[in-house]
Amino acid sequence: MAEIIDGKAYATRLRAKVAEAVADLKRNHGLTPGLAVVLVGENPASQVYVRNKAKQTIEAGMESLAYRLPDTTNQGELLEQLEALNADANVHGILVQLPLPKQIDSHAIINAIDPRKDVDGFHLSNVGLLSTGNPNLVPCTPLGCMMLLQDRYDDLSGMSAVVVGRSNIVGKPLASLLLAAHCTITIAHSRTKNLAAVCRRADILVAAVGRAQMITGEWVKPGATVIDVGINRIDSDDGKSRLVGDVDFESASKVAGAITPVPGGVGPMTIACLLRNTVQAACTIDNLTVAL
Ligand code: NDP
Repeated sequence: MAEIIDGKAYATRLRAKVAEAVADLKRNHGLTPGLAVVLVGENPASQVYVRNKAKQTIEAGMESLAYRLPDTTNQGELLEQLEALNADANVHGILVQLPLPKQIDSHAIINAIDPRKDVDGFHLSNVGLLSTGNPNLVPCTPLGCMMLLQDRYDDLSGMSAVVVGRSNIVGKPLASLLLAAHCTITIAHSRTKNLAAVCRRADILVAAVGRAQMITGEWVKPGATVIDVGINRIDSDDGKSRLVGDVDFESASKVAGAITPVPGGVGPMTIACLLRNTVQAACTIDNLTVAL
């Protein structure tokens, strides 16, 4: 039976470390890092994410600023809001909650954020820095996955890593991070042939697909480390619903050496890394260093 990688416990420790760093910045430099989250529209899932982010930002001792704009907001209005936040010295991190309403061009919006305040790490300048091996602000979910892996292995060098999923927010940045850690990388996607066989080669198998329980134990190399990024809601036997990953936990955990559960694996790491990135951004902007 695989060891369970407890992302919830790791994220709790990381948030405590962030809170210590924030206390240090306040005490020694009179600086309170501020995170601005911009939500456009009424998407219920986005509202929950934004609430959780605000709560955890405050718990870490930081300033949380929420901007809720109506569904009818146009590109120009959102750009104006970002311009104001870019110029605001109390704001060190800016996050625009995705998805945005269809009248707004998400790429243009992300690239209008000051790259030093781009705590999601999606700005082209941060994407370029990551893929050229000089990371600045790194996307939160891949960063969380890497922290869990580095906690388990001192050295990932030479390991075979398969990342299933090639999105800009998870698959591609995670592949860049694994490559920087000297893994041999395969990025698989919907056109990959013999996906099960490709997955079976992996010492580290990451699932970031968005398909409930797609990867079963038969796809897992015995002893491999499995990182399940997926969050899918399915009907459960009692007529309610429950969250599952992209990996079939029951069968995969019998073969893997270690595995992240859903919930309680990668999920809690994402917000913890967002808080961490906000402290990093504040330090970069104010030219300070703090232990993180
Ligand atoms: P996207 O929909 O942007 O990307 C999904 C990727 O999976 C694509 O590259 C797609 O391939 C690939 N894919 C789809 N179907 C298959 C298939 N049958 N076989 C192989 N590959 C396939 O998703 P995201 O990257 O945004 O998210 C992935 C999952 O991670 C989702 O469940 C999401 O909810 C979750 N997530 C969790 C987070 C967390 O905090 N834990 C944060 C972000 C996401 P192609 O490119 O060819 O279409």
